[in-house]
Order: sequence, then C-alpha cells, then structure tokens
Amino acid sequence: MAPGIPASFRKRFRTRVMLPGALVLLATAALCGVGLIYAGRSVDALSMAAQNYEAERSILRQWDQLALGQEAIGLCEKCMLEAASRNPDRNWLAARIARPMADLFDAEETYILNAKDKPVFAAIEGRELPASAYGRLSPTLQRFVELARGKAKRPYGESNWNERLPGARMPRQSSVLTSPDAVHSTDLIRVGDKVGVVSVMQMRRGAAGGKASGDPPLLVNLRWFDKDYTDDLAHQNFLADPHFSNSPRLAKGEAMVQVRDSEGRPLTNLVWRPLLPAGDLIRSMFPIMLGAFAAIALLVALMSLKLRRAMRQEDEQLRELERAHVELQAKEAQAHHLAYHDVLTGLPNRAMFNDTADKALLRARHGEAMAVILLDLDRFKNVNDRFGHLAGDELIQQVARRLTRALESPAAVAIARLGGDEFAILLRTGELAGEIDETLEQILEELRRPYEILGNQAHVGVSIGIAVAPEYGTDRTELMRKADIALYRAKDEGRDCYRYFTESMDETVQLRATLEADLRAALGSDEGLSVNYQPLVDSEGRKITGLEALVRWDHPQRGSIPPHLFIPVAEETGLISALGEWVLRQACAVAREWPKLTVAINLSPVQFCDDGFAERLCGIVREARVSPRQIELEVTEGTVLDQNENVRGALRKLRDAGFCIALDDFGTGYSSLSYLREFEVDRIKIDKSFVQSLGHTLDAGAIVTAVVTLGHAMGLQVTAEGVETPDQEAFLRSAGCNLLQGFLFSEAVPASELRRSLERHRKRLAA
Ligand code: C2E
Ligand code: CA
Ligand code: CA
Repeated sequence: MAPGIPASFRKRFRTRVMLPGALVLLATAALCGVGLIYAGRSVDALSMAAQNYEAERSILRQWDQLALGQEAIGLCEKCMLEAASRNPDRNWLAARIARPMADLFDAEETYILNAKDKPVFAAIEGRELPASAYGRLSPTLQRFVELARGKAKRPYGESNWNERLPGARMPRQSSVLTSPDAVHSTDLIRVGDKVGVVSVMQMRRGAAGGKASGDPPLLVNLRWFDKDYTDDLAHQNFLADPHFSNSPRLAKGEAMVQVRDSEGRPLTNLVWRPLLPAGDLIRSMFPIMLGAFAAIALLVALMSLKLRRAMRQEDEQLRELERAHVELQAKEAQAHHLAYHDVLTGLPNRAMFNDTADKALLRARHGEAMAVILLDLDRFKNVNDRFGHLAGDELIQQVARRLTRALESPAAVAIARLGGDEFAILLRTGELAGEIDETLEQILEELRRPYEILGNQAHVGVSIGIAVAPEYGTDRTELMRKADIALYRAKDEGRDCYRYFTESMDETVQLRATLEADLRAALGSDEGLSVNYQPLVDSEGRKITGLEALVRWDHPQRGSIPPHLFIPVAEETGLISALGEWVLRQACAVAREWPKLTVAINLSPVQFCDDGFAERLCGIVREARVSPRQIELEVTEGTVLDQNENVRGALRKLRDAGFCIALDDFGTGYSSLSYLREFEVDRIKIDKSFVQSLGHTLDAGAIVTAVVTLGHAMGLQVTAEGVETPDQEAFLRSAGCNLLQGFLFSEAVPASELRRSLERHRKRLAA
C-alpha cells in the first residue's frame, strides 16, 4: 500500500478484506483439491468395480461358453449314437466333437464316458489320446458325473444354487442354456495346480429327440485357465497383466478376485494390475482447476481493490468527520475555558466560582464548615494611575500567583478573579477552624510584600471579608453578600486586614440602604443635619486654639445617627461632596464668628476625585470671606498616598491657597513617617486608638513619642486626639504634642453652645 495510508486503515483492510479474501481462496482451493481427490477416488472405485465385474464376468463367460459349446456339439443324435456304440469311431469322434470343441469353444480336454461312466474317448486340444488319459481326472470329476447322471444332488438345490453360496461373488449361472433337454453340470475345478472349467453333459438326440434307451454317454469338456486364457483376458476384457495366483497376497498396484467353485470353495485368485484413472483425471483436471482458481483469485483481487477504494473513501470521510468533531470539541473546550476563566490570570472567573461554590456549598447544608472569602486590593487604583494599565495588569497577575501559592492547601475549593482587583476564595474550614486565621494572615503578608512591576516597586495591600457557612447561610449569593459587607468593614476599619461577617454588620448595611434616601432628603431640605465643634487645646497653655467641625444627623425617625454610619453611605452615593461643602459653609460661618480660632473640617478621599474640587473649596471660603489660613483640612492617609494626579494636584492647590493640611487618624493605615516627606502636610493627628492604648500596651507610648519626635524633626505640628484622662494628657504633653483634643476638654458642641462652652473652659483654666 502506498505510504501516507494510515496504519489503522491498513490493518482494517487486512482484517476485513484481505484475510476473508485469502480464506475464500484457500477454501476454494481446498474444496477443489478435496473434490478432485474425491472425484478421483470415485472414478477409481467405479473403475475398480467395473474391472472386478469384468474379471468375474470373464470367468463366468468361460463357464457359459463351455456349457454352450457342449450343447451345440453334444446334442446331436449321430454323436450320441456314435458315442454309445460298442465300438465308436474314434476318428469321427475326434473330428466331429473334440476338434470343434477345441477350435470353437476353447475346450482343452474332451472326454466321452459310456453308460457305465467308463472313458471311451479322450482328446487334448482336439487330438485323440488313449482313453486312459481320463484316469488322472476321474476322482475329481466323479462328483460332476454323478450330478449329470442325476445320481447326486447339489447341496443347495438346483435352482439359483450359486447365488446362495455364502460369500459367492460369481454371478448366477449362465442363462444361455437354451435347451430344456440339456442336462449337465458345469463348475470350476482345481486339478493339481491347474484351475479351469469343467462341464459334464448327458449326450442326447437333440432338441427334438428324446432320451436314448439306457443311460446316455456323457460328454466331458475342460478348459484350463492358462496363458491362452490370460492373454484373452488382457485382449478382450482389458485387464492389464492378468494372472492367477494361489497366494492372497498382492503386490503393490494389483487387484484380484477370488475364483470359487459353485459351492464356494476357493480355487485360486485372478490377479491383475487395475487401471485407475484418477491420476489421469487429476492430471487432466488440474490445469482447468488451476485456471478456474486463478480466475477466482483474480476476481477476488479485483473486488478487494474496488472494496479498498470504497473503504478508503469511507475512511477519509470518517476521518474528516472525526477531525471536524475533534475541532468542534476543542473549540467547545476553548469556549468553555474562556467562559469560565479569567483571561488575564487564568484563574476561574466569577461564573465558574459561582458554579463551583454552588456545588460545594451543598455540603455546607449538611454541616460542613466553609468560608466564602472576598478580597479587594488596597490602592490598586494608585498603581494603575501611576504606572499605567499594563502595570495594573501585571500587578493583578502577580497577585493571582501569590494568592494561588498561599492557598496551596487542599482546603481551598476555589480561587477566582471576580473582576478588577477583586478575588474570591472558597475554603473548606472543617479541619482548619483555627488555621483559617493563619491562612488569612499569610495572604495578607504575601500580598503586602512589594511588587516589582515594569522596573518599579509598588506597594498594595488587601482587604478581606469572610462569611462563614453554614453559620451565616449556605446560599452562595447570600454568603457573597455577607462577605462583601465584611470586606467593606475591613476597608472602613483601615484596610490591609480581614473581618469576619457578623449579624450586626448586616444591620448596618441594611441601615445604609435606607439611610441613603433619607440623607439625600436631609441634604435637600437642610433639616436634621447640623455641625458640632470640638475644641483643640494648646498643650502648653491649655488654651483653646481651634475647633474641629464634626457633622451630626438627627434622623426624624431613628434619632441621632453617628457619622461612621452615614459618612460611608454619603461616600458610596457621591452625596459626600454636597455634604462636605455644606459642612465647610457652616464651618466658615463659625470661623468668621471666632476669628482667633482655626476651624478644621474633615475631607473624604472621595471628594478629591471630583473635578474642580479645590477650586470649589476655595470659592466657598472666599465667598464666606474667611481666610484659608483659618481653615484646616483634615485628610486621610488614603488621600495623601493617592497617586492620582488629580488628587495630588488638588491637595497642592489647596495648600498653595493657604489651607493648612492635617493628616488625620495617623497610625491606622500604612503610616510610615518616611512618606510624609514626599507629601505636603502641616500637621499630623495621632489617632485616638494610640492615645487610648497609652498605659494599656507597652509600645503605644513608644510609638507616640517616636511619632512626635519625628514629626517635629520634619517640621510638622502634632495633635493627639481622643484624650479622655488627665494621665493621657500628662503623657502627651510631656511627649511634646502641640495640640490635644478629647472629651477630657470637651466633646463636640453645637455652634450655638460654643460661646458657653468656651467660657466654661476659660473659667476652668483660670481656676
Ligand atoms: P475624626 O475625624 O477622627 O473625628 C474625631 C472623632 O472622635 C469624633 O467622632 C469625635 O466625637 C470623637 N472624639 C473626640 N474626642 C474623643 C474622646 O476623647 N474619646 C473618644 N472616644 N472619641 C472622641 P464623630 O464625631 O463620631 O466622628 C467620627 C468620624 O466621622 C470622624 O472621625 C470623621 O472621620 C468623620 N466625620 C465627622 N464629620 C465629618 C465631616 O463633616 N466630613 C467628613 N468627611 N467626615 C466627618
Ligand atoms: Ca478629624
Ligand atoms: Ca481622627
């Protein structure tokens, strides 16, 4: 077969076509061979039967001939009378009986016995001999003489006697004996080593004649199976190489029939070399068969070729189909992968996470502990804005790799990128209830390490929200929502941390949804919202030097709502800009009223994202005819660290305009004093959590002291907020804080109460 034909096809062709074809051919050949051999055998058997028959017939024919000859010659009145006469004419007998018997009927010996069974005439080959020659035969022939005389009976009866002989193979006695008057006994005999036919017959007058008076003479004729006889056999009966043998043993290629007398006594065997035509038949048939076989082989080969072509076509079509099928499957798999994976990171996407989580959470219904974990990068936007989107993509890929590495435990059922800088994890927490915190810490640590991105170093962190199943539900949507709430809590509470969802968070969230509408209404109607002012005290003289404006919301139904609940709502809904500007206007009024006091307002990072934010702020202050120097802007670390040019530009513009910038809640975020050099701030406000830790944790004091020292070294003013006790005041004062703020001095009071509050403070100082 040609190269390029696939081995599978070749194999199939071999087993399906060539093998059966070869088998058919083989079977045909075998059948032909067997048929030929069988035909040969049959032909041989037939031929053998014919030759056997021929051999037997030839012997019987001798029998018949001799009997018939005797009838022809012996049934004549003259012969009978001559034979019966007292002194027969021997010459006449020789001429009229012996010679015709010898010449016409091959009788080799002829004898005539008188009424007393005495030989009166003897001749061999037609020549007269003395009658005494009969003597040698007399004992053997006596039985036949008696039979012919009717003195003895045949042992098996007169009719068909020869057929009854057990094992007799001779055909029935000749029926050629036409004369009903002929009385004779004919049989095969052996005399010495000679075997032949003897016939003894009563001599009678002929067909019309009757019996002679007294016993008739007997005519005795013998014919020996000698060479003449076998020559005749060869010529007339077409038996090859016929001869008689007394031994039943045969040479190779010889056949024989047993020669028996009428009573079944074996006398000799007629042996010849049978003619077996099978060899000839096979020889003559072989070329024809071979031709036929070749024709069939050719036909099979042609059909195989045709079949092969058809099969190849079919095979091609099949393979084409298979190829198409495989391609389709590959495309399907690809489409499936695309549909279920995030292209950027190769992680499963939201669809797949949902799928996997839905299935896995079924087990949570049976009590298996699981956790849905949502992650959101902190300050990812900064990297994007500062280094470009390519860097952002690179960062996301690195985060995905680190996350996968940190979660190599089998407990991680799924890690997915939900989109942007959000990731989700499904953890089986059954066995690692205690280890889950360890895993989360590990993730925080892993993601906090600096990233090498396109030749730059970037710092991001991650905020994590966790919803535990089945405690907080087994429905994926519900768990995701709760993990999201926890995530926002983590963000609210300083980022780069994780928070577990609790029911109270949910209430907060529910509240947020209703708060949005109410806050919008409050802002629109100017009802319910107000601003309180908390004094800041100079640490040395304990003199009030400034105020911080803190917004208050008195909800018509819910009563007073703390800012940490509604500020995030305002931030999320964008209402913060309007709210912030409204607070600034209120603050400006107070600033105008108290020109010697600075008034601080809080700015949300969200406000900085607004276009023209700095300009609007400057406009408000200008409108209120307040100097920007009297106004302090409290910003968060998030704002200061923001890489966005808009934010940085706005910050710079505000500072250039004369506003004082204070870094609020210092110490809760990524606070590191080193970056303060980069950003232009005038004051840092140490977060109240540090102040309140004073005297409780060992390092709080050290940190506060270090911050104050470093801040001063960098030329910054330092404020401590949340001062509640005289001990705290004493420590902070000795640490060198410039300003103090806290309930120890005063809480935030409405503008209307400021005068009274300040008065009270002055009195206390004086006291
Ligand atoms: P903040 O800027 O750190 O404000 C100081 C908070 O500490 C105020 O809470 C104040 O009442 C509280 N505080 C003062 N002294 C003490 C003390 O000795 N002990 C304790 N435990 N707390 C003290 P408040 O008014 O609930 O405000 C919460 C936060 O809401 C503020 O934290 C600020 O981040 C935000 N906020 C308030 N007003 C505004 C606003 O007009 N705009 C913006 N963007 N945020 C505001
Ligand atoms: Ca503040
Ligand atoms: Ca603060």
